[in-house]
Amino acid sequence: MEIIHVSAECYPVAKAGGLGDVVGALPKYQTKLGHIAKVIMPMYRTKFLYNNEWELVHEGGQALGSQHFHYSVIKEKSNKLGFDLYLVDINGLLDREKIYGYDDDTERFMSFQIAVCDWLSKWSHRPDVIHCHDHHTGMIPFMLKYCYGFNHLANIPTVFTVHNAQYQGWMGWDKSHYLPPWDTWKGGLIEWGSSINPLAAAVKNSWKVTTVSNSYLDELKYMSNGLEKLFEYEKGKSSGILNGIDNEVWDPQNDNLIAKNYDIEEVGKGKRKNKKELCGQFGLDIDKPLIVFIGRLVGEKAADLLPESISSSIYQHHGNANFLILGSGEPEVEGSLEHLKDQFKGYMNTYIGYSEPLSHLMYAGADFLLMPSRVEPCGLNQMYALRYGTVPMVRSTGGLKDTVTDFGDYQGFGIRFNNADVWDITYSVGRAIDLYNNKKELYGWMRNYMMTLDHSWDSSANQYISLYQSLK
Ligand code: ADP
Repeated sequence: MEIIHVSAECYPVAKAGGLGDVVGALPKYQTKLGHIAKVIMPMYRTKFLYNNEWELVHEGGQALGSQHFHYSVIKEKSNKLGFDLYLVDINGLLDREKIYGYDDDTERFMSFQIAVCDWLSKWSHRPDVIHCHDHHTGMIPFMLKYCYGFNHLANIPTVFTVHNAQYQGWMGWDKSHYLPPWDTWKGGLIEWGSSINPLAAAVKNSWKVTTVSNSYLDELKYMSNGLEKLFEYEKGKSSGILNGIDNEVWDPQNDNLIAKNYDIEEVGKGKRKNKKELCGQFGLDIDKPLIVFIGRLVGEKAADLLPESISSSIYQHHGNANFLILGSGEPEVEGSLEHLKDQFKGYMNTYIGYSEPLSHLMYAGADFLLMPSRVEPCGLNQMYALRYGTVPMVRSTGGLKDTVTDFGDYQGFGIRFNNADVWDITYSVGRAIDLYNNKKELYGWMRNYMMTLDHSWDSSANQYISLYQSLK
């Protein structure tokens, strides 16, 4: 089959979170299964762009409302990622360093989607499926059906994956003229709550909808930032397919971003060397259990609870655990964490920012990975932690519930808690300290056991293929 993935992120080209990891890995595994998988994404000005060679494959022009724009499509020459990668360049809109966070994000992603549809409409053949990811590509299924310039592509099946329903790309009806000429009788198919809602449009118009875990699919029906009724209504065409991880990128045996490589035989020694490096860099005590957090410092991840939970844990458990936080996000949370680091020198430290190398070293060197998320569609961090022999401490929600069991349960290998609050986190820290200090054998067994679990894309990539095949 020929599968076209359209996304705002793809690792290692541009990544802000899990979406990048998924779109960087799934096409690679689909290619390994014998299919042709291609990724189309915006051409941001990232390192990957400058460090690789490209060929121009198409140039075109379209309109965004009353503004005409020119776009070009370039292709990476050497198949470096294991699949065909195409970048769409639109000067003045997509040529930025960051992926998101600009005032004109609506215009940027609308023009990107228009360019993608226009380019696809010029192909001499039809792909078997167009797979769109998150709201930045959510208007495509509608445009292919109801924009007059593209609707000769209406019989190409579309699949839409919801990686995160918190962000929906809302825009006012005053921006409806951004759409290329379309059948205005179909306005209801892009609307939700009296504005244009690209996520809702994708759910309404794509042939199939998937979410990145089964539990998240259930949760969306009662907690999806206003779209609950829509997810309930469209449940017939929706299914959950758990994300996998890229076992080649995330491999403690071959990871060149960590201090010491290790396999299951040497996990104890290997992790200790990495922990030593980490503790050395951040002034922490190698003999105490090290609990880390890696992620966006936002409400969804319950990052606002971290400062109080860390201080409460340090006081209640007499400083018997160390903490290290890597992330960036809400300024108040960043500020409180920075403040705490001076107060609890030697007990906690932070790195405010984004660092791929540090994240790898933390998965390898930490003893526990904390994820108190309020919302977690799938969550990849816990799966990376498992692969590196780091015990996940997670709130029972979404994909965390589907991938981590509690050590108190039969053959459990993690720590689970129910509420995103300071009390539950502090209590879980106590359980982690006890496990680490007093149940060394169990801790060792858990670590070895979880490293044998297979969370690679092999099985999920196949599930997507079956889904596409059902649309033929
Ligand atoms: P999200 O909701 O952010 O997509 P996921 O768990 O699905 O959450 O994926 C998060 C990905 O982003 C992981 O690969 C994680 O290691 C990475 N990540 C998040 N924040 C940072 C950071 N500050 N530095 C490095 N990597 C980060």
